[in-house]
Amino acid sequence: MTEQNQTKTNKIEQFDVAIIGGGINGAVAAAALSAAGQKVLLVEKDDFAAFTSQESSSLVWGGIKYLQTYEFLLVFKLCLARNRLMRAYPNQIKQIGFLASLGENAPFGRVLGTFGTLFYWAIGLFGTKAPASYSAKVAKELEPNLITGRKAVKYYDAELPDNDSRFVFDFIRHAERLGADVRNYSELVGANFDGEWQLDLKAGRKKTQVRARSVVNATGPYAKEVSEMLQAPTEAGLVFSKGIHLVLNRNITSDYRVLALWDEQGRLFYVLPMGDRSMIGTTDTRVENPETEVTEEDRDFVLRQINNQLELKVPITKDQVISERCGVRPLVVEGGGSGDVADWHQLSRKHIVEANKDRRVVTILGGKLTDCLNVGEEIVAELKEFGHSVAKPKDWFGEGSQARRQEFYDLVFARATFNAEEIAAGMWRRHGERAFDILGAEPKDLFPGLGITEEEVRYIVSNEKVVSRDDLLRRRLPVAMARSSKEIAGNKALQQLLVELGL
Ligand SMILES: Cc1cc2nc3c(=O)[nH]c(=O)nc-3n(C[C@H](O)[C@H](O)[C@H](O)COP(=O)(O)OP(=O)(O)OC[C@H]3O[C@@H](n4cnc5c(N)ncnc54)[C@H](O)[C@@H]3O)c2cc1C
Repeated sequence: MTEQNQTKTNKIEQFDVAIIGGGINGAVAAAALSAAGQKVLLVEKDDFAAFTSQESSSLVWGGIKYLQTYEFLLVFKLCLARNRLMRAYPNQIKQIGFLASLGENAPFGRVLGTFGTLFYWAIGLFGTKAPASYSAKVAKELEPNLITGRKAVKYYDAELPDNDSRFVFDFIRHAERLGADVRNYSELVGANFDGEWQLDLKAGRKKTQVRARSVVNATGPYAKEVSEMLQAPTEAGLVFSKGIHLVLNRNITSDYRVLALWDEQGRLFYVLPMGDRSMIGTTDTRVENPETEVTEEDRDFVLRQINNQLELKVPITKDQVISERCGVRPLVVEGGGSGDVADWHQLSRKHIVEANKDRRVVTILGGKLTDCLNVGEEIVAELKEFGHSVAKPKDWFGEGSQARRQEFYDLVFARATFNAEEIAAGMWRRHGERAFDILGAEPKDLFPGLGITEEEVRYIVSNEKVVSRDDLLRRRLPVAMARSSKEIAGNKALQQLLVELGL
């Protein structure tokens, strides 16, 4: 080796593990591996959670609908994963009732529905509140927008009030606290294996190289592509199911709950909370490419379903839609192949982790946000098999101590003139004890109803790797989902603040 090359090699940073992809799976891998004592690098070509992990229904759930396809083991595992997350995130994950209206598209009536929800409760080891069953009269009283004459059942799961992408960032933050080097806007563009990995990264115009003993491929819908770049192709195949959501300019439920309805194809769809507004969806359409957008056909379909399945005084039209979400579920086809199954909707939603020991690559395929803790732990186990000396990961997720929660709420109520409840809940949920330092003397809600203050925006921009307005308003905070672009543009205080902060 020449002296010049030697100097070059010396400058190359060395990691135990390089994780490619900063969606939920990359983020949990980074947190778990750092807690296991590894020197970790995570690179994400866009912002953290800027792809699939910002387009989900933001539910933490056991997958009640998979009972219909007899996937009992999957439901059991997802319920356990849900319960574990609910315990670890008492504020960021909120238990919520699903009121299912049993119309003619529902695959069962009240008796079977009652039995099914009880079974779901039991398979989830009674980790939620108990289900309930309602006559048509009581259902209508509970939720006046339900169609008159329809009975209903209720079961419980959980949701992420600040959205999926904020939840991903929580793991990024844990990873960073535990020593990981986490880089958004940094793409893997080339790789060379010589017993260890030499990786070419591109961040804007800047190109760098790093070395890592092993690579975790957590690129979601791009997992096959990246595994080929790494010359470690996976056995399992991936196919894509597109799903969209539309957010409305109002809340169409009478309480904090999800409405579960069945569409004209007999598939479950939902009215979900999005901040103080409602979100409707989703769809399940097979597509060939991961890059998708909401089409007119998608909008018409979702609006037709909601108007047909509810008795709304004012029907929902396109001009009431303030924001949209669109993504693909990467679905695993075990053993490879194109997923040409008789019923597309029957393809399993479970994740798999494939390890290529010769090339020291672990690839994650498919899965759900709900299963993220298992994914993190499975990856640690795979790297142990590769010979990494990993400890059992400890303290790598969760909200931490709740001991000062009431003290913080009292402080907000003493300082805020309006919307103290929303401000206290939002800040505590997103920042825990750090909220004491963020609060400021006179906290004011920038968007009444969302509980977000100027001080919080300043904190996030300075501390949470925000590069663009979208990073801040779409992913660290749910503003760009729960408010229209017109409302955001018309909010003078926010606009001035963004300009001052260089966004
Ligand atoms: C419509 C819909 C609804 C859903 N609802 C739910 C739900 O309610 N609950 C639930 O639990 N799950 C739900 N899911 C599933 C869940 O959202 C996904 O399983 C999860 O987000 C996948 O995360 P991921 O990290 O694997 O992929 P992604 O979030 O896509 O992350 C992969 C990342 O890799 C990056 N990347 C790709 N190539 C490179 C490269 N060369 N260099 C650097 N970075 C790269 C991408 O930019 C991307 O950010 C839903 C999915 C959809 C589509």
